[in-house]
This record gives sequence, structure tokens and C-alpha cells, in this order.
Amino acid sequence: MHNDVEKTLLSEAQIQARIEELAGEMNALYSDDDAPMLVCILKGAFLFLADLVRHLEFRHEVNFMVVSSYGSSTKSSGIVRILLDLESNIKGRHVMIVEDIVDTGHTLDYILRNLSTRHPASLRVATLLNKPSRREVQVPVDFVGFEIPDEFVMGYGLDYAEFYRNLRYIGVLKPEVYQR
Ligand code: 5GP
Repeated sequence: MHNDVEKTLLSEAQIQARIEELAGEMNALYSDDDAPMLVCILKGAFLFLADLVRHLEFRHEVNFMVVSSYGSSTKSSGIVRILLDLESNIKGRHVMIVEDIVDTGHTLDYILRNLSTRHPASLRVATLLNKPSRREVQVPVDFVGFEIPDEFVMGYGLDYAEFYRNLRYIGVLKPEVYQR
């Protein structure tokens, strides 16, 4: 385990097994004819997307959006900006948003409203992590990897101050790291 990590919340094996299960549910839902577009929300969901798509058996596209929430590094403010938008039109397409974590729900709420105005055929959400106890806005989530308690987590795509995204597991930082 990395020196800065207090504890592992989800091991590499747990994450990989759950992603395979989620992919199984998606394989039952979508067909080649649906050819959904998976919209990966960067940066946090990049590893989740990469591992997920390797288990998908239906034809699909991947696309990326970069969004940022104003606020401190550990707290979202509810003000969301699109820094990089989709490169293609989603009108009439089946779309699935791939997120790292839904916390207050503000980021996802903004993305859902924004993409809805573009008239996709369907709009679903897959998130690796969910912190239901922190919700401030109700948002529909179709696929959830893990429900986690109210702790700031990092690893497996999620950062603290842009570091630790490369960890294969999801962990909680030692409090002294925040105070540095
Ligand atoms: P929300 O808008 O739902 O409050 O927050 C969503 C975004 O905040 C996530 O996409 C993620 O970037 C960030 N976030 C929320 N909770 C955590 C956490 O525990 N760890 C990390 N690294 N990022 C988080």
C-alpha cells in the first residue's frame, strides 16, 4: 500500500469483479443495433471506462467530456463547467454516461440536463462509486458499482490534488496528507 494511504476501501480484485458484473448487466440490456455511445467523464472515469469496455459484447462508441466543478479539491460547489465537449452529435442515439463517483449529484445533474437538450434516444448513467448520504440533488443512476460511506476516496482514476489516479485500488488518505 502507498505510504499516504490510511486504508483500502475496495481492492483491485473487488473492483474488477464488480466491473465484470456491471458489464454483464449492460450486455443483457444493449444490442449491436442500439450501438450506444459511452460518454466517459474525465478525468476520474478513465480507468473505469477502459476496464468496462473490454467486457462489453455489443457494438458501442466511446466519447469523452471534461467537466469541472468549481470548489476546493475535496468539495464540489454545484457550479459546473464543460471544458471539453463531445465531438459528435447524440441526437437519436442511445447514450450512457460513465462516471467515477456521484457525491452531491450536482455534476451529474448538470450533465444530464445538458445532454437531454440534445435529444438522445435514451440516456443512462453508470457510476463506479456512489455516496448516497451526501446527495443534495436527486439524480437517476442506472448502474452503480459500489455504494460507499461519506469519506474522501482516491485511486483507480480518482485523484487527490491530481495525484494517486494510478492506484489499482480505492483508498482513503491519511489525514496528515490533507494538512501538508
Ligand atoms: P458531485 O457533483 O456529485 O458532488 O461530485 C462529483 C465529482 O466530485 C466527481 O466526479 C469527483 O470528481 C469529485 N468527487 C466527489 N467525491 C469524491 C471523492 O471521494 N474522491 C475524489 N477523488 N473525488 C470526488
